[in-house]
Amino acid sequence: MAKPPSRPASSATRLVGAGRRPEWTGTADHPSAVVSPPVWRASTHLYPNTAALKEGPRHNADGRFYYGRRGAPTQWALAEALTEMEPAAGPDGGSLLYPSGVAAIAGAVLTAVGPGDVLLMTDNAYEPSRVLARNFLARFGVETRWFDPLDLGGFERTLCDRTRAVLLESPGSLTLEVQDVPALAHFARKRGACIILDNTWASPLGFSALDHGVDISVMSLTKHVGGHSDLMMGSATAGAEWYRKLRQTSQVLGQVASPDDAALALRGLRTMQVRLERETASALAIAHWLEGRPEVARVLCPMLPGSPGHELWRRDFTGGCGLFSFVLKGGTAQARDALIDSLDLFGIGYSWGGFESLVTPLEPAHARSASPWPLAGMDPADRFGLRLSIGLEDPADLIADLEQGLAAWGASL
Ligand SMILES: *Cc1c(COP(=O)(O)O)cnc(C)c1O
Repeated sequence: MAKPPSRPASSATRLVGAGRRPEWTGTADHPSAVVSPPVWRASTHLYPNTAALKEGPRHNADGRFYYGRRGAPTQWALAEALTEMEPAAGPDGGSLLYPSGVAAIAGAVLTAVGPGDVLLMTDNAYEPSRVLARNFLARFGVETRWFDPLDLGGFERTLCDRTRAVLLESPGSLTLEVQDVPALAHFARKRGACIILDNTWASPLGFSALDHGVDISVMSLTKHVGGHSDLMMGSATAGAEWYRKLRQTSQVLGQVASPDDAALALRGLRTMQVRLERETASALAIAHWLEGRPEVARVLCPMLPGSPGHELWRRDFTGGCGLFSFVLKGGTAQARDALIDSLDLFGIGYSWGGFESLVTPLEPAHARSASPWPLAGMDPADRFGLRLSIGLEDPADLIADLEQGLAAWGASL
C-alpha cells in the first residue's frame, strides 16, 4: 500500500484527515469531491480485457481493486485511518479488518503460533480469548499458559523456548489491571515471541501500542471506534513484517469486513477523541464518588490512584475511557442484582464503548487461573461487583441513578 500522506503530529488532527485519500473520496474530474469515502459495495471488479484481468492479482497490494475478499476503498480507508493512529507501524505497516474483535484476536494469534508452540496469555484476558486458547488452539497442538498480569517475575519464569506468542490485555476489560507492557514485551522479545496486545480499552489514542514494544495491536472496533452500538468489527495493526503475515492469514481464512460497517466505523472514528475525553472525565468523577461511598469496597478504574497499575497508566497512557468496575462490601449476588435492576439510565447488556451507559455484573472468578479473585489485598468477603461503561449522559444524572441503586442494594441485604 502506498505511503500514507504525512499528517500533523496531534492525534486529534490526524483523526480528522486519516484515510481520506483523494482517490477514495473523489472522481477523476473532482479530486476530493466528497468528505467521507463512499460505500463501495462490491464483490467483482470488471476489467477492460483479459490482459488486464490477468494482471489484476499482481497489482493488488490493497491499493487497487481486484476482488471483494481483498477489500475495496471503503475498507482500505478505514484500515489506513487506523494505521495512521499508530505511526510506529511505518510506511510498510498496516491494518487488517475482521468481522469482529474476536476474529481479530484469532487472526493475530493464528498468525503467530503453530503446533508445539506455547502461547502465554494474561490472566485478565477477555473471556472469549481464553476460550479460543482452551477449546480451539489446544486441538491444533498449541499449549496456552496463563500468567498473573501484575507479576513481572512470574511472567519471566513462565516464558520458555517454545513461547511463540504472548497475548496481553492492558487494562483487562473486567478487572482493569494495567500491565507493564514495555517490560513484558522486553522479556518476551528476548525469547523471540510475538507480542500481541488487545488494545480495545485505550485505543491508540490512549496507548500507542507499537511504540511500547507491541508487535500486533488488536482492537474490537465494535466498542469505541464504532461508538454507537450498531456494528461488529475488529482490527489488527502492525509494522511491515507482521502486517504481511497477518494479510496472508486473513486471505487464507477468508476474513472480510463489510463496506457498510466500515463506513460506519470510519464515521465513529472521527468523533472518537471527543467521546473518549468526555467519557473519561465522567468515569473519573463517578469513580471518585463511588470511592467515597460506604457500600463500596474497591473501585477498579485505571485513572484512579490506588487502582491496580495506576502508576503504569500514568507513565504509559495519554488517555482513558469510560469502562471501569467496582466491588461492593460483602453482601450477596441477589442484592447486587437488585442494584442493577433498579438503575434507570444504565442499559443492562454486554459490550461497551457506545454513547449510552451500560452495566453488567462483575463475576471474574471463573475466568482466572493464575491470579486470585478477589485481587490481592482485597477482603475475600468483597466479591460482588459491577462493571460500568460510562456514556455521554450528564455524569450528575448517572451519579444520582447509582445513588438510588445503592439504596436498593442496602434494602436487599
Ligand atoms: C468486546 C471485546 C472483544 C471482542 O470484540 P467483538 O467485536 O465483540 O468480537 C475483544 N476484547 C475486548 C477487551 C473486548 O471488550
